[in-house]
Amino acid sequence: MPDCSQCQGTGRETYDEDGRTVTDACYHCGNTGKVDDDTAFNDRLMSVADTLAYHQEVEHRRWVNSDSDGDGYDLGGYENGLMPHDYFRCNVWDRIPEIGEKLRAMTLQEQELLIAWNELPYEPMPPQTAPIHEPLRAVIEDDNIPF
Ligand SMILES: [Zn+2]
Repeated sequence: MPDCSQCQGTGRETYDEDGRTVTDACYHCGNTGKVDDDTAFNDRLMSVADTLAYHQEVEHRRWVNSDSDGDGYDLGGYENGLMPHDYFRCNVWDRIPEIGEKLRAMTLQEQELLIAWNELPYEPMPPQTAPIHEPLRAVIEDDNIPF
């Protein structure tokens, strides 16, 4: 049987509770570390929903913040007593059920394609704020050529 995605096959879950690290039995697989094929497939499909929800919310945040007359995305969180990071995560979670419904309505072939896409090895882009050293240095070196 496939490993449980929740606990990576360990049967135990470690999470943060009020700043303490708590280790508990994994409810998802009933402490066995294994799930049946249907559950494993559904978990992988819901991981696709998670990815899509994340990207939708990133787009939404960009759209809200692009309105120079608006209050900005983070204010919506402060109004609800949430830090920007938690506000973003809650909004992603809110999107997942609806996306999950759409994914479940798809054909098995479409679902398998999306799962394969979602599980491709991912190389994160460097942060856009990273200083760009190489072109600058090249310009300086050009000026130092003694002829
Ligand atoms: Zn588990």
